[in-house]
Amino acid sequence: MENKLLLGKEVSASLTQALSSTISNLRNENIIPKLAAILVGDNPASQIYVNSKTKFFAKNDCDSQTFRYDSNVSEKEVLDCIRNLNQDNSVHGILVQLPLPKDFNDEKILSAISPEKDVDGFHPYNVGKLFSGDPKFVPCTPHGIIKILDYYNIETSGKDCVIIGRSNIVGKPMFALLSQKFERGNATVSICHSRTKDLRFYTSNADIVVSAIGVPNFLNGDMIKKGAVVIDVGINRVEDMSSKKGYRIVGDVNLDSMIDKVSHITPVPGGVGPMTIAMLLYNTVMSAQSQIN
Ligand code: NAP
Repeated sequence: MENKLLLGKEVSASLTQALSSTISNLRNENIIPKLAAILVGDNPASQIYVNSKTKFFAKNDCDSQTFRYDSNVSEKEVLDCIRNLNQDNSVHGILVQLPLPKDFNDEKILSAISPEKDVDGFHPYNVGKLFSGDPKFVPCTPHGIIKILDYYNIETSGKDCVIIGRSNIVGKPMFALLSQKFERGNATVSICHSRTKDLRFYTSNADIVVSAIGVPNFLNGDMIKKGAVVIDVGINRVEDMSSKKGYRIVGDVNLDSMIDKVSHITPVPGGVGPMTIAMLLYNTVMSAQSQIN
């Protein structure tokens, strides 16, 4: 089983190790890569994500600062904060933690971030760059998946891939990465969603299946073909009274039901998750590096 697991934890360690010399070179030039994170409201998962980003940046000799707002803050106040950060030369990356409270216009907020500091890659400029085949900042989770495939030398060229989920954060950029003429791309990609008529038809014919839907244990062994590579993006809380917290985290994939059938699979936790944060660091360091290029 062990050699079938694609461990994002390991890939992340290798990536941060490779970044460390760039970070120390930047520090020698008095540039400390810095992330500014904007957190609106008290969504517990968002708080955990932002705190873990802060810790990860500190562990890798980079800076971060979190701007926290109550959920009743005005959109204007958040936009003003973004505009100030756009002008602040000590800040190389800006992210707004999603989801925002319901009355916020996500598009307006994300579009206010300077494309030069848009380390989440959600600004329309960066989305356009990615889809036109000339990416600048690539969204962290799909980019992290490509790094996993790279690290384990999993071929994508000419393969049939299925992505389940069409969000702007995961599904669509994953489609852009796998389908284009990139080194770890050139695949034939189908993108499925809740209106797909016969999902099983797609998954059972695919060489690579990426599941990003947010439904615990949705994908079973009888839905994939033998030898498939399965990437589980899902992070879902399920009740578990035997755990201290009263819940545990599972993916979209029922790993036990398919471990004998797959050639490779990402576990949850320890698979895709650690890559998201690693790619955020990567994008922020690249942004800082561009200051001296
Ligand atoms: P999202 O915005 O809620 O999108 C979910 C997508 O799944 C939608 O396109 C939806 O279809 C589709 N879907 C839902 N139920 C389905 C079903 N039964 N059959 C087929 N398609 C279905 O979610 P997201 O932000 O992409 O996140 C997806 C999952 O990944 C969540 O568990 C999230 O926590 C996790 N995630 C993990 C990371 C990480 O770092 N590992 C990062 C981001 C997200 P429609 O478009 O038709 O509604």
